[in-house]
Amino acid sequence: MKILIIGASAAGTAAIESIRRYDQESSIVQLSDERHQLYSRCLLSYYLSDSIPREGLQYRDPGFHSQMRVELHEGTRAVHLDTDRQCVTCDDGSVHEFDKLLIATGSLAKFPAYIPQGMEGVNVLRTLDDVEMIRTNVRRARRAVVLGGGLIGMKAAVALNECGLVTSVVVRSSRVLSQMIDQEASHFVTERLGASSIEVFFKTDITEVESRGNTLEAVRTDSGQRIPCELLVVAKGVQPNTDLIADTDIRKRWGIETNAHMQTSRENIYAAGDVAETFDITTGRHAVSALWTCAVQQGHLAGLNMIGRGKAYDGAVLMNSLSIGGIPLISYGVTNPPEGEGYQVITREQGRAGVYKKIVLKEHRIRGIILLGRIDNAGVLLSLIQRREDVSSFEDRLVSDQFGYGTLVGSVGAPDLARYHNP
Ligand SMILES: Cc1cc2nc3c(=O)[nH]c(=O)nc-3n(C[C@H](O)[C@H](O)[C@H](O)COP(=O)(O)OP(=O)(O)OC[C@H]3O[C@@H](n4cnc5c(N)ncnc54)[C@H](O)[C@@H]3O)c2cc1C
Repeated sequence: MKILIIGASAAGTAAIESIRRYDQESSIVQLSDERHQLYSRCLLSYYLSDSIPREGLQYRDPGFHSQMRVELHEGTRAVHLDTDRQCVTCDDGSVHEFDKLLIATGSLAKFPAYIPQGMEGVNVLRTLDDVEMIRTNVRRARRAVVLGGGLIGMKAAVALNECGLVTSVVVRSSRVLSQMIDQEASHFVTERLGASSIEVFFKTDITEVESRGNTLEAVRTDSGQRIPCELLVVAKGVQPNTDLIADTDIRKRWGIETNAHMQTSRENIYAAGDVAETFDITTGRHAVSALWTCAVQQGHLAGLNMIGRGKAYDGAVLMNSLSIGGIPLISYGVTNPPEGEGYQVITREQGRAGVYKKIVLKEHRIRGIILLGRIDNAGVLLSLIQRREDVSSFEDRLVSDQFGYGTLVGSVGAPDLARYHNP
């Protein structure tokens, strides 16, 4: 069988590993428009701040592709997909036929039209090349602005601050990490950022970028500020990179629609990772998860299903972890439940200790979690979400410091306990 994989990152790599566990015969060709060894995108901001060396980004051994007997074409962009003839054409003119195709093309950084692309000092943070460019700009910069207060924006702000730049964050909403945490947790995080002298402008957007020649000098905001800066990182979110299916009948909403087997609306074509829309356990809806852990799980499943080892995806749980000013933060699932939809919320706040815990429940099952300051038991709680466990018998203890594996003893059947050791 001829297997073709487009994209060589979390999802594409996981698919190869699953396939080769069971199938030594099929040929695997992988296309990547990047030219770097497999690297972890999640660690890019730590390389930016020099907290890890470039080699620390490495995600698999340099010999990975030859060990897995994968024909890797680096610096090669797939530009056209013919679903009837089952082949993909690349920007170098090469054509690759397939029996099974995995689209693992990830996502693209959104870039507002009012910000000029190509201006010196204006960057996004998505790839290793982007980071190399930012590192070059950091050397001649004193002040930086980050546009966007999501996960990537926050990671960028912390890294630039650690590089010694006076750093400001411009956020359109009233809180940072709005997809991940609630107003109270955002308050804690903002205080920590303030302590690191990162200034956050809430409910603000950039309206104009000032330059001298083609070099960035300042940004202007809709609340009238002029913030001088030599570096701007645009982190306004990501969108699934679905370009390749534009001329096909493969169905998409925000991302490419997939079923529980990571199959698209075309039988022999699969999608996984940031480009794919999958079932979300905590909301019960289909969505793009845009997280490394989800991309790996989906890639593994796509690989298995492509070689006929049918396995269904339980669904994604949005999960994230971050350290802000040394304070650990973990969030899972629905953290800002809509009113009137039957959600119940339990919180515990210890302001002085910098601890905040929130559990979101529906029908006695955990749908979301925020743990800030104390993240012990995050694994047990995640496993309760994944297993859709009825927690009514110990609901009142979920946010207590004493909650843990021990709480489950006597609450769930003894034979079931082992499951929580290895979710
Ligand atoms: C700075 C940063 C920090 C992050 N931090 C976290 C974190 O802490 N936790 C977390 O869970 N997630 C984090 N993420 C998100 C995580 O990195 C992504 O969810 C994950 O990389 C998705 O993997 P993927 O394989 O779907 O796609 P991607 O990693 O986006 O890879 C897709 C690859 O396909 C290539 N490609 C695209 N189109 C084509 C084409 N037509 N032809 C050939 N190649 C193509 C792309 O260039 C890319 O190399 C972070 C992301 C960034 C950018």
